[in-house]
Amino acid sequence: SSSFIPSRSTADWQALDAAHYLHPFTDHAALARKGTRVITRAEGVYLYDSDGRQILDGMSGLWCVNLGYGRRELAEVAYRQMLELPYYNSFFQAAHPPAIELARLLVEVTPPQYTHVFFTGSGSEANDTVVRAVRRYWDVLGQPQRTVIISRKNAYHGSTMAGASLGGMAPMHAQGGLPIPGIVHIRQPYWYGEGGDLSPEEFGKVAARALEEKILEIGPDKVAAFIGEPIQGAGGVIIPPSTYWPEIQKIAQRYGILLVADEVICGFGRTGEWFGSQYFGIEADLMPIAKGMSSGYLPIGGVMVADRVARVLIEKGGDFNHGFTYSGHPAACAVACATINILRNEGIVDRVRSDIGPYLQQRWRELADHPLVGEARGVGLIGALELVKDKATRQGFADPGEIGTLCRDICISNGLVMRAVRDTMIIAPPLVMTRANVDELMDKARRSLDETL
Ligand code: PLP
Repeated sequence: SSSFIPSRSTADWQALDAAHYLHPFTDHAALARKGTRVITRAEGVYLYDSDGRQILDGMSGLWCVNLGYGRRELAEVAYRQMLELPYYNSFFQAAHPPAIELARLLVEVTPPQYTHVFFTGSGSEANDTVVRAVRRYWDVLGQPQRTVIISRKNAYHGSTMAGASLGGMAPMHAQGGLPIPGIVHIRQPYWYGEGGDLSPEEFGKVAARALEEKILEIGPDKVAAFIGEPIQGAGGVIIPPSTYWPEIQKIAQRYGILLVADEVICGFGRTGEWFGSQYFGIEADLMPIAKGMSSGYLPIGGVMVADRVARVLIEKGGDFNHGFTYSGHPAACAVACATINILRNEGIVDRVRSDIGPYLQQRWRELADHPLVGEARGVGLIGALELVKDKATRQGFADPGEIGTLCRDICISNGLVMRAVRDTMIIAPPLVMTRANVDELMDKARRSLDETL
């Protein structure tokens, strides 16, 4: 490793970590009792910790390392770009080739309505950009009263003030006085947990009609947009019934509100289509992207903007008073260009759709016979297992999160990263995994479920 990063024992890293490092979304008192796991390197689909243990990464880091670890081209393109032009901004009548080329490539690989992109450093910044852009859009069109953005409970759209406000995570709202004004939440399309006696198709329509009810409650002339993840990721890989998005689309059209598809997780092949919007047939106006855009090798995000929205902002909008120092960072853009080229040249998205995705889903569903598993669901290379006390009634455990956390820790000790969202176990492994990797994941998952029981 680099000479700037010394080599230390696990105990020394843990002591320094505990002394100085505040981690995201972490109970530090609990972490101090366990000690931080220190990941020192990775290759392919495997992580290695400071004790040299090999761990299969069932989460692609945080749903982002879609091409797996150790891709030399991505490192080399960043290295070369940093020597050529490590930084310049795209403010004030300037730009540079990597950002321009990435914009061109993104317009090529995204659905046809998208003609423009606004670059950010992350998915959260992309969603902050969405809030400002949709309000600006209506303002420019002479409807400044259209400010309300409708989102969903248990959505995740990031951790900045606007991102966490768009998100529907109660524990996040409880800290810091969120949501910010003008953001409201409707129910989520969570059939397993909330569908009751309805079929998935019936429930999908019911959940979507909550949007219309909310629009009518607020007043249609006050609503700016609806935002949703095609599949809710951090909320527990909640895959809406097939009837949900078509109904949402109709309602958005009926009331003339903008539709925003947050593709930060679903984008760049996760579902077996380039974008989750294509999997569900969503035709949105704005599309936040990040994560898989650079396979996580460097931080970058953006908002794809449909032609009809871009035209309004460009032709009538004047200055859009928004942007970040790292909007369109050259090295990150170069890595994103390389990522898109690899996805294309190696046919990775097709492979997820027609080969490794179906294989993983078939094996994943076999876990539904386990006594702890109430439902095994997924699409492409994303999946969830609902751990329940009673499979017949879908009744959960008395202390939500306890069994999920236990299962997660057992998975790690068995050499598998599987994340727990309360008592839902989730995976989103690298898109490049082999059938042998899938088999290993399934063996480790089943053994961990057995040991959790
Ligand atoms: N949107 C979605 C759907 C996400 O899953 C995430 C992160 O998990 C974000 C936005 C926020 O992205 P970031 O963590 O890069 O700010």
